[in-house]
Amino acid sequence: MKKICIYVIIVLMIFSMGCTNRKETKEKVKETNSTDMTYEINMKRDLLTLMMAYPEYIVDLEVSSDNRVYLIMKSGNKILYDDKEKKNYSAKLNNPDLQDMLEEIYPLCHTDEIMEKNFDPGRIRSYALLKEVYGNSKAHVEKNLVAAKGVRFNKNNRAAESMKNVMNELLPLAKNNGKIGACVYPMSGTFCYRVISGTGRLSPHSFGIAIDLARDNRDYWKWASKEAGAKRLKSYPQEIVNIFEKNYFIWGGKWNHFDILHFEYRPEFIIKSKYFSKGIKEGEMWYSNVNINDEYIKKSIDLIDKKIK
Ligand SMILES: [Zn+2]
Repeated sequence: MKKICIYVIIVLMIFSMGCTNRKETKEKVKETNSTDMTYEINMKRDLLTLMMAYPEYIVDLEVSSDNRVYLIMKSGNKILYDDKEKKNYSAKLNNPDLQDMLEEIYPLCHTDEIMEKNFDPGRIRSYALLKEVYGNSKAHVEKNLVAAKGVRFNKNNRAAESMKNVMNELLPLAKNNGKIGACVYPMSGTFCYRVISGTGRLSPHSFGIAIDLARDNRDYWKWASKEAGAKRLKSYPQEIVNIFEKNYFIWGGKWNHFDILHFEYRPEFIIKSKYFSKGIKEGEMWYSNVNINDEYIKKSIDLIDKKIK
């Protein structure tokens, strides 16, 4: 009983982050992770999140003899879940594993303030994963691009389909509402194979999974002060953000390194936020919030429980 209580308290502490612009202190999480049980719950939730977000691409899990956990991809390639290295913010950006990528929980609530220092859920990307799913070269990605209501988007993992769903709802709204229209048009682009300026990292636009809407000079952290960005954020129509998030896109307006015109198809962040942003109550399972009547989800939970013991 005592053990269960301690365990519940630890889990609640980790997941009790409400809807705020505050960064969930990763260092604190890492320290609290000294309990194996909490680490294991986090890991299982991350693995299920990824399997739900990339159902056709993750086919199995593997635990090596040195206890490292890998995703087995459709191609046969493996992606390491956690390299167990302690990293600062820039090391996470430049060399993230899946655990680093999913550490910050994307807030699904309305936000109109710039996020706390270095809180950028979704800005840390596992390129190994993106390359497996959307294409590992310019030519390969280009082959996967299709037209989605006037823009080019990657057809893999339902990205283009989600983009179409966004457009079906967003375009009529932009036509009838001047304020929304001004934030949507002229659009600034989707696919563009390039590195993020000033870095060696590929932009998510390189994979055909991101869209920039109408540009305002206050939209990007490198162009504008935090105060100017916050002003723009406060005036940004929430309807636009809601439509994208409903379709598994995250918004750069919820990053400390803000990118307000930028929306990116990252189903893992919406899924993790929806199902795993809260702690578990006594007696609940680690997967308590998901729909276990869904056959694929049930199968994934069984696989995770079988491999991770
Ligand atoms: Zn962008």
